[in-house]
Amino acid sequence: MELEERLNDVRSRIAAAELQGRRPDGSVQLVAVSKTFDADAIRPALQAGQRIFGENRVQESQGKWPDLKAETPGIELHLIGPLQSNKAAEAVALFDVIETVDREKIARALADEMKLQAKTPRLYVQVNTGLEPQKAGIAPKETMQFVAFCRDELGLAIEGLMCIPPADENPGPHFALLAQLARAGGIEKLSMGMSGDYETAIAFGATSVRVGSAIFGAR
Ligand SMILES: *Cc1c(COP(=O)(O)O)cnc(C)c1O
Repeated sequence: MELEERLNDVRSRIAAAELQGRRPDGSVQLVAVSKTFDADAIRPALQAGQRIFGENRVQESQGKWPDLKAETPGIELHLIGPLQSNKAAEAVALFDVIETVDREKIARALADEMKLQAKTPRLYVQVNTGLEPQKAGIAPKETMQFVAFCRDELGLAIEGLMCIPPADENPGPHFALLAQLARAGGIEKLSMGMSGDYETAIAFGATSVRVGSAIFGAR
């Protein structure tokens, strides 16, 4: 199958899941995760009209996205991988949405850079719903306090929450937990669901899904 066919298949599955979940048509955004793929592999997705992309490494993204952004207007780039504070300047310069705010140090570094660069990428807080030690993200029970810190101490608007459920568990309860935290905090956006579980995530209220291999193929 060609990339365009795979992309269209994902798009129609999203539309079907919206319908099934009585969600408005087009209410779930598709973030096409292009990590590890080079510019030549990404261009067919741009030609097929895809404009929202996710990457997990700042440095890798700097190697391909400035050119792609210059070629094609209207690209929205999401950082979905862990961010080190020494990369905050580059991240603020390149990304339109940073989904992985997960500790005070990085929130402060982002707030400082956003002031310096007069640029305001939209921000999501990553929640470690499975409390996995190897995974980034703030603990569920600390999420409200952390969001309040970002808002009240740093003046950062937190637009959404993001999670990556444990690979070996039923993702439903993790999506439900993230949705519950967002409701409690008055947070609008929910980034959840990947190639294997994005339809489930939509059933639990995802407003964006991050789909890589189902579009670009195996990594
Ligand atoms: C790689 C990645 C994805 C996409 O995973 P697929 O299973 O290839 O769809 C989604 N979210 C994050 C945070 C990732 O790192």
